[in-house]
Amino acid sequence: MPEAASEKRDQIEIVGRNFPSGNFRAAIFDFDGTLSLIRRNWQDVMIPMMVDILTATGTRETRQQLHDHVENYVMRLNGRQTIYQMMQLAEEVEKRGQQPLAAIDYKNQYHDLLWVKVSARIEALQMGQLTQEELTVPGSRPLLSALAQQNLTLYLASGTDLHYVQQEVELLRLSSFFGSRIYGALPDYERFSKAMIVEKIIGRTGVDGDQLVGFGDGFVEIEEVKKVGGLAIGVASDENNRRGINPWKRDRLIRAGADIIIGDYQCCEELLELIGLNQAL
Ligand SMILES: [Mg+2]
Repeated sequence: MPEAASEKRDQIEIVGRNFPSGNFRAAIFDFDGTLSLIRRNWQDVMIPMMVDILTATGTRETRQQLHDHVENYVMRLNGRQTIYQMMQLAEEVEKRGQQPLAAIDYKNQYHDLLWVKVSARIEALQMGQLTQEELTVPGSRPLLSALAQQNLTLYLASGTDLHYVQQEVELLRLSSFFGSRIYGALPDYERFSKAMIVEKIIGRTGVDGDQLVGFGDGFVEIEEVKKVGGLAIGVASDENNRRGINPWKRDRLIRAGADIIIGDYQCCEELLELIGLNQAL
């Protein structure tokens, strides 16, 4: 095998051998950290904000202890709508003897903090100081094109508010791959979940569970795809360096049940071959 090809193959970690392959008809993608890097490092905004709020309850826990605790539940809930992380925060404040704000107020506070970073990136993109490529996980576009060429129907489901997701998909010029099949958090949070979207794909389009492939960097999307017997590809993306594997994500994705781990999609051809989708290439 030529060196370049073997290197790319090394970028693919096969976790379990018994995964469906070949006969895929639909693919579901998470957005942030899986395709988009516009909101990269949202964790570094959310976790310190929560640590500050919990410190203010007067708890005896150190900031480090609070950080570890917060990081744990934030990442366990990663992939669900942001409001669930804020509901957990409210519960944590209450457990420490204080009256919490409503989860939606915490969510707004978080959004304002994150928006400072996100809006700067969007502006840089609009001004041409950053490219679409720089704000996506490497190889996203060729992978989406290859899947579409093989007649897979592509779905996007994100825990970020739907109107932002739609805007950011547009900014990254990825809309044509998904059409109207873009889903995100709704003000009435009970009307959306990734489980619902997976059920919808299976229930309404006649796609079987093992004909579905899911890509995600969070716990939730991996779990939901595995529940229906699909192939779950964990994207342990390093959002800062845009190369290599984020070991922290990798461990959690494996725990969630991912069949395969990759760091980005530069190994697209090898990956498609591995999952039996190489016929037309
Ligand atoms: Mg994500």
